[in-house]
Amino acid sequence: MDRVYNFSAGPSMLPESVLQKAADQMVNYEGCGMSVMEMSHRSKDYEAIINGCEALVRELMNVPDNYKVLFLQGGASSQFTMIPMNIGNKNKKCDIVVTGQWAKKAAQEAKRYIEVNEIASSADKTFSYIPKLDKSTFSKDADYFYICMNNTIYGTKYNELPDTGDVPLIADISSMVMSEVIDVSKFGMLYAGAQKNLGPAGVTLCIIREDLIGNEMDITPTMFNYQIHVDNGSMYNTPPTYGIYVMKLVLEWIKEQGGVAAVQKMNEEKAKILYDFLDSSEMFKGTVVPEDRSLMNIPFITGNDELDAKFVKESKEAGFVNLKGHRSVGGMRASIYNAMPIEGVKALVEFMKKFEAENK
Ligand code: PMP
Repeated sequence: MDRVYNFSAGPSMLPESVLQKAADQMVNYEGCGMSVMEMSHRSKDYEAIINGCEALVRELMNVPDNYKVLFLQGGASSQFTMIPMNIGNKNKKCDIVVTGQWAKKAAQEAKRYIEVNEIASSADKTFSYIPKLDKSTFSKDADYFYICMNNTIYGTKYNELPDTGDVPLIADISSMVMSEVIDVSKFGMLYAGAQKNLGPAGVTLCIIREDLIGNEMDITPTMFNYQIHVDNGSMYNTPPTYGIYVMKLVLEWIKEQGGVAAVQKMNEEKAKILYDFLDSSEMFKGTVVPEDRSLMNIPFITGNDELDAKFVKESKEAGFVNLKGHRSVGGMRASIYNAMPIEGVKALVEFMKKFEAENK
């Protein structure tokens, strides 16, 4: 089988040139006589990889000097616990906007340790929009204000950030990291699981403002303590060495594309092709209000479950895989992360047009 166009929400497509490079270096990394997988994380060769990866994160995201960059394990989901334990220990209070399952899970975990104020929710319309926020409802003494900036399952994205004043804004950017330019200085913390835009599953990138580190609760497990990971350069224990190596290759690829701004332009072009089609089609409809549409995850439906199932089946046979929507919402979803080539989106739209004509 040839390589397919993989529209999975994650883990998802990686640039083919990155996979090829990893394959070329698999058995003998740069003539050092071993695979990166076999290397001690304390070796000079590996030190160059992890330091190079951090330098690329800082360069590509323009990370200010007063932010720490960490490569952690435990998935993005561990951050749902680490954030309240480390950053919610002053007034033991946070504000959260519930825009889908991942924000809800973050709220549920935070509630185990601190007071959580749900500022708004879009559950009333199956999370198909980002709620308009009323600043007067924000807690002035919250330790942080939490959002999920791109909602992988529902396909919504914040195009305007909440104005939280002195309260640090924390965002889960798992499904949009490095897909568009983000001003890191507007946030107290950003984090992202790697398995969509950065590399294989197993690494979580955390970018945290220095003053928010070092005030963890006494109950915080050592492995959940940001300060410990900062003090040890993400090497308190064995880091996910191979995942960080592939992340570095992906970041080099982003740099080759012209950096995040250039990748954003391409992503906007890709998303426009699909949204324009959805807006003109009589059969397929996008599910998200136009002003909150994600560039990365695009859910759509025909309005007929049988037709949806037929589309998912036939598209798979034609080489467009993983288009089935999340089990909680049904329909279809095309995740078009950085590594999805524009040709993949164009080919999908052509396939959808053909399917529409054949199934009128
Ligand atoms: N946040 C978002 C926005 C996600 O899409 C996901 C799942 N891919 C998670 C958190 C959870 O990530 P993980 O499976 O790495 O814990």
